[in-house]
Amino acid sequence: MRLPTLFLCLVGGVLSAAPAKQPNIVFIFSDDHAYQAISAYGDARKLNQTPNIDRLAKEGMRFDRALVTNSICGPSRAVILTGKYSHLNGFYNNTNSVFNGEQLTFPKLLQKAGYQTAMVGKWHLGTDPTGFDFWQVLPGQGVYYNPPMKTVQGMIKTEGYVTDVITDTSLGWLKNRDKSKPFMLMCQQKAPHREWEPNLKDLNFDNDRVYAEPASLFDNYANRDKVVGENDMTIEKTMVPKDLKLVRPPQLSEAQAKVWDAYYEPRNEAYRKADPKGADLVRWRYQRYMHDYLACVKSVDDSVGRVLKYLEDEGLTENTIVIYSSDQGFYLGEHGWFDKRWIFEESVRTPLLVRWPGVVKPGSTSKALVSNVDYAATFLTMAGVPVPAEIQGRSLTNIMAGQEPADWRKEFYYHYYEYPSPHHVSPHYGIITDRYKLVRYYAHGEERSDLFDSEKDPLELKSFFGQKDYADVQADLEVRLKQLRETLKVPAVDDPMATGERKRNDANGPGGKGKGKGGQKKTVPEAAK
Ligand code: CA
Repeated sequence: MRLPTLFLCLVGGVLSAAPAKQPNIVFIFSDDHAYQAISAYGDARKLNQTPNIDRLAKEGMRFDRALVTNSICGPSRAVILTGKYSHLNGFYNNTNSVFNGEQLTFPKLLQKAGYQTAMVGKWHLGTDPTGFDFWQVLPGQGVYYNPPMKTVQGMIKTEGYVTDVITDTSLGWLKNRDKSKPFMLMCQQKAPHREWEPNLKDLNFDNDRVYAEPASLFDNYANRDKVVGENDMTIEKTMVPKDLKLVRPPQLSEAQAKVWDAYYEPRNEAYRKADPKGADLVRWRYQRYMHDYLACVKSVDDSVGRVLKYLEDEGLTENTIVIYSSDQGFYLGEHGWFDKRWIFEESVRTPLLVRWPGVVKPGSTSKALVSNVDYAATFLTMAGVPVPAEIQGRSLTNIMAGQEPADWRKEFYYHYYEYPSPHHVSPHYGIITDRYKLVRYYAHGEERSDLFDSEKDPLELKSFFGQKDYADVQADLEVRLKQLRETLKVPAVDDPMATGERKRNDANGPGGKGKGKGGQKKTVPEAAK
């Protein structure tokens, strides 16, 4: 057995992982990958198998309460890069925020510490990447088939499926890197983002399997504040023909279109003939959605397998930390929804798995309240780089080493802003503990609240807010929520979107080249769908 190249040391009574040699870091990140669609997380529906991602759980640690601060694509990426909440990094939403690339990010600090850094795939922050020796990114959301990509030299054409293109480019960079330096690669997949368009070779991967439905597929939104039922992200009403593969994507070549038609057309013809209505239509749509979404997940899992194999073949496994995560969770029919945004479990919770030979015990798990705001501090600590005081997150390295600090957070702050388009989800903020969630919704210019108890109501179908039995719990959560907002420096103004302009922290963020209340003009045409 090879000796681990890392060792643990006790510094001031705190166990810390100190690199004997700076480890390489591979961050594999997907878009909208629900933990329910990773077999290592053991979802009751047993929707799919992800053998390669599961390897990271078997050989490393699975985090069971990894939460995001703002459950939507661009903001999550900005939080990860900066280690700060949206109200401090300036990127609140996908609609009109633009990332200020001049601010402090962890890739810049790793570069200074001698790392080679690369960013490949979905970026979605409106401005060009900074802090990377190499980058090749999708413009905006990008497309699934033959995706054009942006580089320092300009736009380039590619051929094939987006997950393969991103993986090939990532591995190509690894092969040609300067082998005298440690590396940090961000391999950021587009899949399985809407419209969930599969790799053509995987179209028949499930042999027309029928998927188990979630218990709340037909949620009527009773017993919670009315805003919960007011959003526009249901399988029943919001899905459009291209989501359902009733129309072909325009990017396919003639040969690719034939493969597409051979799979979808006979099935679409059967659907048109049956012409389902009401609950039957929701059920048909759910099945089609699961087929397409899980096929996209398969491409991501295959990609993880390719990256792990490359590391093995090159003898890099022992000194390379591999992290898998997604920008948030996703609804796979729970509450009748797809999409994300809400503080509710399926969207606020994201997959997080890490393999770190010599430090992380294989097959370990953690229920600590951790977050994407912690990733920057974690990566810096892994590399032996001091974490700047302005970073709000905390390093997860001690937890990864099996030593959760006694003062680890007992409550977590969440804040979602994007409203009203594209999905009419009320802006809201709240506190999450190991058992409870207290939520404040403010779309209507008045404070509305719900209180959830995961022990009594794990599916989050009932609010206990204002109930006598919960008076003490509610009062405690209210105090702690106020304290969290103060500690995290959340501006008193809660609804920058609802007022149509930012009253604090314009879209460029602190230190940015602010151009007035609207911020810089957004250069990327695609908003989140
Ligand atoms: Ca996303």
